[in-house]
Amino acid sequence: LFISFEGPEGAGKSTQQRHLAARLEQAGYPFLMTREPGGTPLGTRVREVLLDPELEIGALSEFLLYSASRAQLVQDVIRPALGRGEVVVCDRYADSSLAYQGAGRGLNPELLRDVTWEATGGLQPHLTLLLDLDPALGLQRAAQTGQPDRLERADLSFHQRVRQGFLALAAQAPERVLLLDATRPETELADEIWSVVGGLLRV
Ligand code: C5P
Repeated sequence: LFISFEGPEGAGKSTQQRHLAARLEQAGYPFLMTREPGGTPLGTRVREVLLDPELEIGALSEFLLYSASRAQLVQDVIRPALGRGEVVVCDRYADSSLAYQGAGRGLNPELLRDVTWEATGGLQPHLTLLLDLDPALGLQRAAQTGQPDRLERADLSFHQRVRQGFLALAAQAPERVLLLDATRPETELADEIWSVVGGLLRV
């Protein structure tokens, strides 16, 4: 089972991933938590480049860097873990590129889909948990957790386009994407996520 978490800055993705990890652990399912950009030695280096507040990175270069990290992650981490029968939980995946580099930066969605298809070999999550939040609120939450990264300094209208991009993806693929209101209480969200994931694991 392959699960991705998506959503804007400050939506509480990390917190919900911790809850999910704890429940998978408790229920005795072998699992692997990873993230992108990151998750491999190459991905970690690419992540540093992508988040560096000093760098100017064009939209296409940005997308190709995310894709490089993604390709390596799928090949070295995600596919092997799925092959061993583990539950894979990934913090961000291809939907982030469609939302950030597509809806946010205006890159051609066809190009994004083609390159993403090559980078992932067509591997899609079985379930995507989209934590949706008003970006004004999300940026406020994210600002409380340390230095702003390169993306957190982008303007609000960029983040609003990203949110609309995520919502459009949820509307296009309702069988895969579970849309969750990130302002709901933490434990209530964790319970709902576990009931959906638990349901998929038991079938
Ligand atoms: O969620 P996380 O903090 O790991 O995301 C890292 C940063 O990369 C965030 O600022 C996010 O907005 C950005 N990002 C992006 N395009 C992607 C994936 C992440 O701009 N495809």
